Amino acid sequence: MAAGLIAAPFILPYLGFTPSTINRILVWGLFGIGFDILFGFTGLLSFGQSAFFGTGGMVAAYLLTIVNFPYVVTAVFIGTIAAALVGYLVGLIALRRTGIYFAMITVAIAEVFYFVEFSPLSAYTGGENGLPGVPTPTLPLGFTTIQFNSDSSLYAFLAFWYFVGMVLALRIVRSPVGAVLRAIRDNPLRAAAVGHNIHSYKLTAFVIAAAYAGFAGGLLGIMQGFMPPDAFTFDTSGQLVMQTAIGGAGTLFGPLVGATVWLYLSDFLQTTLHLGATWKLVLGVVFVLLVCFLRRGLIGGMSNLYALVTRPVATPIKPGQGAVPTPAMTVEEEQKAIAVEIATAPVAAPMPAAHRQNGDFSGLILEAMALTKRYGGLVANSAIDFSVRHGERRGIIGPNGAGKTTFFKMLTCEIEPTSGRIMFEGRDITGMNVTDVCQLGLTKSYQVNQLFTRLTVRENVTIAALAELRGKFRLDLFRRLLKIPGLTEQVEHTLALVNLTDRAERPVAALAYGEKRRLEVGLALASSPSLLLLDEPLAGMSPRERVEMVKLLKSIGQGRTMIIIDHDMDSLFELVERVTVLQEGRVLVEGTPEEIKGNKAVQEAYLGGVVAA
Ligand code: ATP
Repeated sequence: MAAGLIAAPFILPYLGFTPSTINRILVWGLFGIGFDILFGFTGLLSFGQSAFFGTGGMVAAYLLTIVNFPYVVTAVFIGTIAAALVGYLVGLIALRRTGIYFAMITVAIAEVFYFVEFSPLSAYTGGENGLPGVPTPTLPLGFTTIQFNSDSSLYAFLAFWYFVGMVLALRIVRSPVGAVLRAIRDNPLRAAAVGHNIHSYKLTAFVIAAAYAGFAGGLLGIMQGFMPPDAFTFDTSGQLVMQTAIGGAGTLFGPLVGATVWLYLSDFLQTTLHLGATWKLVLGVVFVLLVCFLRRGLIGGMSNLYALVTRPVATPIKPGQGAVPTPAMTVEEEQKAIAVEIATAPVAAPMPAAHRQNGDFSGLILEAMALTKRYGGLVANSAIDFSVRHGERRGIIGPNGAGKTTFFKMLTCEIEPTSGRIMFEGRDITGMNVTDVCQLGLTKSYQVNQLFTRLTVRENVTIAALAELRGKFRLDLFRRLLKIPGLTEQVEHTLALVNLTDRAERPVAALAYGEKRRLEVGLALASSPSLLLLDEPLAGMSPRERVEMVKLLKSIGQGRTMIIIDHDMDSLFELVERVTVLQEGRVLVEGTPEEIKGNKAVQEAYLGGVVAA
């Protein structure tokens, strides 16, 4: 990057870039770094970044022109802090909603800023005239003073700050905070469920983006010698979004590349081809084509091309090589063979179970009292009394729609019970949120996989382990992941436990279904819960995958308290000590697997009266 920044002013003029365009590219590139952390890394699309760009720029320009504050760079930093503070306040409001509503709130708030800058605050901002006379910076060296007052010297000044901005951003995205931001982008529900306070992390990304915008706004005033009021317009926010999409979101360099394309085309179409106002029409077509054909932008397209060129060529299998053909087996024979194979395979030792457990190990770990959940007129769970002792392995069965998943959702505080209480390790957790409950040591694996699909297997497990090792929120923005004590061991241990060590570097999308199910359990395990709930861990698996999963559950169940829901009763009865049967939202019966197998009421519940008849 340093080499590129040094070479750019020598090469780009030959390609038709003017010195002032090159400087503008750097300001937009810096503005875009923060936006990319917010949009590309956290998945929050804001159309209101102009509010912070304008705020930072106006505060710095006001200090330098009206107040006559003598220190240019300090003024820019004060503008940055002002933009970050404004970002914090706006984020508190905007982040109450997600998706399109979040985007619309940011648009509305930016429009408010535009209005305030133009009318009530025009005495400070110059209204529609902006603030002229912003001075250029100087660098006193003792024996001489460097003046950054020409295009080329300003380039050096801007390139230096772009470099610093990029180094800081790279540290942030490679820190534990960066890892959690990516997890939130991929699956906010699961990021919260493994124990991260996603609201605080989103707010962090929002403030970082606002600070970058404010800093870039300050530099804009310096670069132009004038702080323009149009920094606050919707056009500014829109241009930033489009430049990031053109260059490639989630790359940090994308906005710089996008700004290069945008500003070059703007100059070329308007100045060289004399298209006047129609240049935006051409730019619009270019934007649509680029986004349609390069879905990850220019940088994404280049990295795809690179991967294609460097992909190893598959060598054809020579005769005699490859798998040895086995004689045809029946399904039962194959299942037996698999069972033997897995039984003899080495198994990782179970994780140190329930490290959070303290106090009375013989007593109850979980107690639900008269737990009820109504959806309008439908009663999904009705006055359920349920308790589990430390170290117990409990199964829950029941016909479809009996209310098993609803019951789990209430236990992990994903949904609030209509009435009743839940006690976990002697503490009333009724009405708490899923993040806090996970931090206390109660978590679950989901019936339908909830993975971080754009991350690798190792990164997935790391996200869950981070929540346990760092707590639900921590601002270690510049810390390296590898520096977190115990993280590597915990991730490796979990990977070994769910038998995914050799798949660790694969993206989740490339895993087979059975491997995804094991990773689903691995995510719950990585946060070292003292009570682990498993919602249909065997659902949808092939016979081989089932045998493997049962083996895995047996190994992780040693010394751990678990509650398992599943429809595969043969496997479930092998795994648990007691079984609770739910029917129509109520507890039908509870007992050992042997008692449940022979229970007439259970048979009737499943066969709908056929046995009784
Ligand atoms: P399965 O074995 O098929 O997963 P289950 O025993 O887990 O079923 P639940 O998913 O808990 O059953 O559903 C219990 C009842 O509550 C069902 O009748 C279901 O339609 C209803 N239900 C679940 N979630 C909601 C919701 N969000 N809104 C309305 N009704 C719901």
